[in-house]
Amino acid sequence: MLKIIFLLFFIASYSHAFIIADKDYRLSKPESTTFKISSEGCTGAGISDAILKDAMERAVEIWNDVPESRLKVKVGSTSGTSVTSTTVPKGEVIIGCAALGAGSIGGTTNQDKANGSARIKINSDYFSGTQLVGFVGTVVHEFGHAVGLTHSKDPASVMTYEPNGWNYKPSYLAQDDVDGVVYLYPNDKQLGGLMGSCDSYAADGKSSRGGMEVELLLGFFGFLAIWKFVRKLTNSKS
Ligand SMILES: [Zn+2]
Repeated sequence: MLKIIFLLFFIASYSHAFIIADKDYRLSKPESTTFKISSEGCTGAGISDAILKDAMERAVEIWNDVPESRLKVKVGSTSGTSVTSTTVPKGEVIIGCAALGAGSIGGTTNQDKANGSARIKINSDYFSGTQLVGFVGTVVHEFGHAVGLTHSKDPASVMTYEPNGWNYKPSYLAQDDVDGVVYLYPNDKQLGGLMGSCDSYAADGKSSRGGMEVELLLGFFGFLAIWKFVRKLTNSKS
């Protein structure tokens, strides 16, 4: 009976919603990736480098905030590479604006699989200096594509396409995003992350950042130990 409970527990803890974009794509330098403004930037759309950099800083802050992952990104100087170039130097993710047509597309990301790098195009037909609602959320979302994730079915995820609670301005990753980034770039030094990183229960829009299963699992083992101890006592008395 206990074995069955444990097995069910194990299965329940290992459900995923995040989806990786391509099994062969990873950032080539996850520990030292630099996020740069492309040669054109977004000034043509009336979005200053300062506004763009603010959004980039937010994206970096959010995606870096996963101790169980070795992904560490910093915002760097302006790149000489255009967002229309098919080749992006190793260790870089670049961002700039391009006209992608009127409609609801906020941006798009192209991965350079050979170099393990990516370029993010923000749609200048959608965002401009006077229309920036959802701009930060879009940069955070597109950066997730650069990391290697595609759209998640978890509505709490920053990689969702569904309506969500963070109103296009997420300030943290959902558990599902954390699971995705840990899957792609595990931090081997943080073994603790292995147990608490593989679930998708944060569907209420609040990130609970792992730990729940670990606590339950520890509780379960604690219970098991007490139960064994009690049984031992009972046995020794009889
Ligand atoms: Zn997307």
